[in-house]
Amino acid sequence: MSHFFTFLFRVPLPSTHCPVVEQLNGYPICQLRPGHDYPFHLPPQIINVVDILHSNERTVVYLGLCEDNTELALKFSNIEDISAEVGAYDAFEGLHGTVLPKMYGALIGKDRIGKKIPCLVLERFGDRLTRRFGDLQKTEKAKILNKLAEAHRAGLFPLPFSERHVVVKDDDYRLIGLGCAERHDPPCCWTYDFTAHVQDDDIKPTDPSAQCGSLKSWAEYMRFWDHGKLILSRTILISKSDKLPPQHIVDRLSTAIGMSSDHDYIMTDRKQIGAKYLAIVWEQMTKHGMLLEDVQKLLKYYSYLAHKEWHEERNEVFVPLPGMNFSAYKPR
Ligand SMILES: [Zn+2]
Repeated sequence: MSHFFTFLFRVPLPSTHCPVVEQLNGYPICQLRPGHDYPFHLPPQIINVVDILHSNERTVVYLGLCEDNTELALKFSNIEDISAEVGAYDAFEGLHGTVLPKMYGALIGKDRIGKKIPCLVLERFGDRLTRRFGDLQKTEKAKILNKLAEAHRAGLFPLPFSERHVVVKDDDYRLIGLGCAERHDPPCCWTYDFTAHVQDDDIKPTDPSAQCGSLKSWAEYMRFWDHGKLILSRTILISKSDKLPPQHIVDRLSTAIGMSSDHDYIMTDRKQIGAKYLAIVWEQMTKHGMLLEDVQKLLKYYSYLAHKEWHEERNEVFVPLPGMNFSAYKPR
């Protein structure tokens, strides 16, 4: 019985920067067979290659459809990278289908002169994350961090790790791209459950359940703990207070803070003005019943009011930038 898989590349597919696949002998109809080093967990069949999921100079990942319509992610790259990644997947089989996508194995094709072209065959799990970690809901940050912690506990130190190495499907996540993964040495003893701590603003540095520098720094990078601070316009840290909106509202209130024609604001000034701005907006929403959508149409105006108040408290004249001057504006 034939061990060959027939890849039928739908042409034309979008062009890629990675020419490796077009060098396959017979392209767009190519024969690939399982590699000898690892078992392959699908029977030989025709795979329809219908789209490109991702590509860069070194790698291209195609969407393949099995005869029963199971979706596959077919990753082509050079033999060294694919071998390293298949080895990492194989070593952590216990994480397949929970932390990592399921791996079916590796297939080998050949170019016209017989040089091997390898293909890593994975379950197609959703799509790559398109939002920055810091912009995700805290519950979603917790799920991703718990996956990373599970990988660590199993001994896998995924490298590289970033937004580009996380795929999402129906609010569940998998880590991908194990080309440079390492062993977690010494073993990771992290047991802190991020999902169980979604309400927490802080963590004690000595918490014995959270003693892995790498995991902790990823959690800080994602701003999982706010340490009692709101962050406005991505840069201004302001102490939380019951007079200020919660972070998920602050995230919708980004505006220019520290804008004037004749004043150089230092960060302390920007924090003070930012706090005034948020207090003004929150009062509009909580005391005057304004909806967020309506408040959002007036952010520059509220920023103007905050600047004006701050300068007045210092007995200074506020000279707004052109376009930020609302001195003649009267809200309805
Ligand atoms: Zn760790």
